[in-house]
Amino acid sequence: MTVDTHEATAPGAEKMATKKRTFSGVQPTGNIHLGNYLGAIRNWVETQDQYDNIFCIVDLHAITVPIDPVELHANTRKLAALYLACGLDPKHCRLFVQSHVHEHAELSWILNCFTPMGWLNRMTQFKSKAGSNLDSVGTGLYCYPVLMACDILLYHTNYVPVGDDQRQHVELTRDIAIRFNNRYKQQIFTIPEAQIRSVAARIMSLTEPTKKMSKSDPDEGSRISLLDTPKAIKKKIGRATTDSLRLVAFDPERPGITNLLSIYQALTGRSREEIEAEFEGKGYGEFKAALTDCIVATLEPIQQRYHEYMNDLPMLESILKEGADRARPLAAETVRRVKEVVGLG
Ligand code: ATP
Ligand code: MG
Repeated sequence: MTVDTHEATAPGAEKMATKKRTFSGVQPTGNIHLGNYLGAIRNWVETQDQYDNIFCIVDLHAITVPIDPVELHANTRKLAALYLACGLDPKHCRLFVQSHVHEHAELSWILNCFTPMGWLNRMTQFKSKAGSNLDSVGTGLYCYPVLMACDILLYHTNYVPVGDDQRQHVELTRDIAIRFNNRYKQQIFTIPEAQIRSVAARIMSLTEPTKKMSKSDPDEGSRISLLDTPKAIKKKIGRATTDSLRLVAFDPERPGITNLLSIYQALTGRSREEIEAEFEGKGYGEFKAALTDCIVATLEPIQQRYHEYMNDLPMLESILKEGADRARPLAAETVRRVKEVVGLG
């Protein structure tokens, strides 16, 4: 399989770009799932012609929790192949691995020094990921939102297309940027905005539908991985938590069936009313069978393309290298300006 990659744009020419810039990323912490796809990646693909896009595999974020090195390295390539298989086109984006552009780590130290602990203490993701292990988790997990702010701010990002769980982190990014700009009385950072869709912004766990679907959930049955076989999908949807009412309708009081219906809505593009009418008088079994077919049909072509990319690792590596080479000059210029105003060097 061949993919055209377009020529690197000179750093100076970036200023001429008229398109607004987007930045987003996924951690290579495991197999990506329907939540990542519907809440983030599918939206990136749909709008990639409209924006100047930067999409990252955020491996520095992945080491904020324990992860096997061989697995991390392999996951990074798998995620790159999945990005491409989902439809990201290197002609329309810089696609790279975060640790290949060292400016992310460099800016992160500087902005850590400018971010009040009180702001980080409010971050709900840290609380849920650290759980009761407050004394043993790495400080990187605590500072994760600052690294995410750097990812975004390095590239003068206008929009950050993410799932609803990242809303708070993008708000924090804005606060950090405004504080820094005010401190040095210069527009060093562009103030970004979160771009969160109304449909599928938070896909919930299949087994505990009050928790979001996550790669890091130890229960495999809680999520549909983009690489799941039709048999596994059927089993997971079949076992997904519902209730005893047997009424196929959106209802905030019944998060299990509502979550499954939201997935169906996102995949079919139909309205809530149309879906409820389609399953009126029908049971959960019939709905779950339709949902399973719909998921399998969506994932089949993605899986096929994924295997094609994974069979050509040198090409994958060259796309990632070119992406990093095209991202680095932008990041380096931001770090240069930051160091200058801070008085470093
Ligand atoms: P982890 O458990 O390792 O944090 P994750 O599943 O939360 O993994 P991330 O890599 O943290 O995935 O997030 C990648 C993107 O997917 C982000 O834009 C995030 O907002 C989005 N996302 C993650 N989970 C969901 C979900 N359940 N529904 C919708 N969007 C999601
Ligand atoms: Mg996450």
